[in-house]
Amino acid sequence: MMSNSCIECGAPLTGRSDKKFCSDYCRATYHNSQYRRVASEQAPVARILRRNFDILGKLYATGRHRADRESLRKLDFNTEYFTAARKGPFGRRIYSCYTYSYRFTLSGSLRLV
Ligand SMILES: [Zn+2]
Repeated sequence: MMSNSCIECGAPLTGRSDKKFCSDYCRATYHNSQYRRVASEQAPVARILRRNFDILGKLYATGRHRADRESLRKLDFNTEYFTAARKGPFGRRIYSCYTYSYRFTLSGSLRLV
């Protein structure tokens, strides 16, 4: 795409026709704002996954590799979000949140696997 003005500040561009920015300052400002925009769009889901990950880490650390449905609710564990899901033995679904994997029992308890 060709442009004859800086895509950050709109200043006219001179020189090479493939230039997009009038200065390194405008280039950095543009890329920083793109980065912030992406980060802010990802933030709500990232926050949920981070909380789930922390909860799973605490369950792991205590050696009590399970939590019942009520405890999960109190901890604000969000079962809607995970980073991967696969079929385990007996057709049970195994979920992952980054490095932790877990499944749910019939009563809704979570068990680390
Ligand atoms: Zn500029």
